[in-house]
Amino acid sequence: MSTGITQKLEHLKQLKMSKADLSKLPAVEKTLKALGELDLPRPIVLGYVRESIEELRNNPELIEEFESYIIKTRKELEDISRTKILSVLNGTGVLIHTNMGRSPLSETAADRLREIAQNYNNLELDLNTGERGQRAAYLERALAIISGSEMATAVNNCAAALVIILRHFVRGNRKKIIISRSQLVEIGGGFRIPDILLASGAELHEIGTTNKTTLQDYKNAISDETAMILKVHQSNFYMGGFIENAETEELAKLAKSENIPFCEDLGSGAVMNTEEYGPVAHEPTPSEIISKGVDLLCYSGDKLLGGPQAGIIAGKKEFIQGIKKEPFYRALRCDKLILSMLEDISEEHLKENNSVPLLKMLSTSVNELETRANIIKESLNGLPALITVGDGESRIGGGTMPKSSIPSKTIDIAPKEISLKNLASRLRKNENPVMGYITDEKFRIDLRTIFPRQDQTLTESIIKSLT
Ligand SMILES: *Cc1c(COP(=O)(O)O)cnc(C)c1O
Repeated sequence: MSTGITQKLEHLKQLKMSKADLSKLPAVEKTLKALGELDLPRPIVLGYVRESIEELRNNPELIEEFESYIIKTRKELEDISRTKILSVLNGTGVLIHTNMGRSPLSETAADRLREIAQNYNNLELDLNTGERGQRAAYLERALAIISGSEMATAVNNCAAALVIILRHFVRGNRKKIIISRSQLVEIGGGFRIPDILLASGAELHEIGTTNKTTLQDYKNAISDETAMILKVHQSNFYMGGFIENAETEELAKLAKSENIPFCEDLGSGAVMNTEEYGPVAHEPTPSEIISKGVDLLCYSGDKLLGGPQAGIIAGKKEFIQGIKKEPFYRALRCDKLILSMLEDISEEHLKENNSVPLLKMLSTSVNELETRANIIKESLNGLPALITVGDGESRIGGGTMPKSSIPSKTIDIAPKEISLKNLASRLRKNENPVMGYITDEKFRIDLRTIFPRQDQTLTESIIKSLT
């Protein structure tokens, strides 16, 4: 038989089947009733049910018994409700986990958030005069001190900070941004430095090679089309061997003598000496970079600063003032909730009272973690699993300090009745979701990134997932 005829017959068979089965299509109202109470607004449930019935109409071979259809749909709707932002217990040991909202905020910050959120406030009101006030004036004062700069301001994130800096300096014939080939990096989540440059209306002027870029390379590149020299901190990777990069001080001198702005995208922005908090390397601080003569720099608010998502721009007053006057700045400014959280994290750093959760987690001793681990292990007695306390290695994460590895303690679970993948799924889908990782035939939960106040909840989630 020719393939044409076979296809036709097949098509007729399909049509016949569709006709028969379409009569079994579930009805919308009946489905909604059968689904019962769900923790989702009705329009979302209704929209989903309509979609799923439409899909059955197009693929009648998928039509099944009404009962099993309801069970399946309820499960899918529960999956949808789990795509809302929920609080999660982070047992991965990654302190700044981009998939888990990066830096957690402190209890005082959370209290302040509630206070500002549910009341009116003086965002742009000067309580001293009763006149219109300056937005974020106190914050900018604090950020300038933290960054060791003449002036500072905040926008939505570090990517936005970089975009507005570029837009400010790119004008007329001056479009070229000089950048070393060793710094044309991808930060993560598809954020590539060359793409950001182009999207900002700048032109890339790459110099040097992957492993070597000298001061002479920069000198040779400068022309009357140069808008700015950009340095990008290699936050999420490291290079070794035959490498060389022009020193920041030399570059600053060169930029100054040629009257060209020199900026550095610092990324993680550790304002403290990281090595004082844990067994990790020193990360360059904004004030160190500023003191080397950089005109402007930018860093994230929710990486090593330990605050909310934001991008801090710090440096020369005339440049920051210029940037704040850019029409585009208005589109990138932070809202009252973020600004108040930034105020809070800035004060926590300035008071050096070590209440920043990120720093507390970094400085928690292995002994303290072990004590907690043993208590948790004791309360898990009698479950169908082999549960032990293990040695783990926490990491900073968030695309920062890739070489850092901090000794930690873990709860290791080898389930006897279910698979490791099944246990991981049950823990994730728990009322209080728990994330961990699987190695050596064990599901492991790193306690460094679990807050002590969550130990009880963690214990309950493990018990529920194993029984
Ligand atoms: C993380 C990072 C960024 C992006 O910061 P966001 O705050 O996520 O926008 C930019 N540059 C560098 C060097 C980074 O490490």
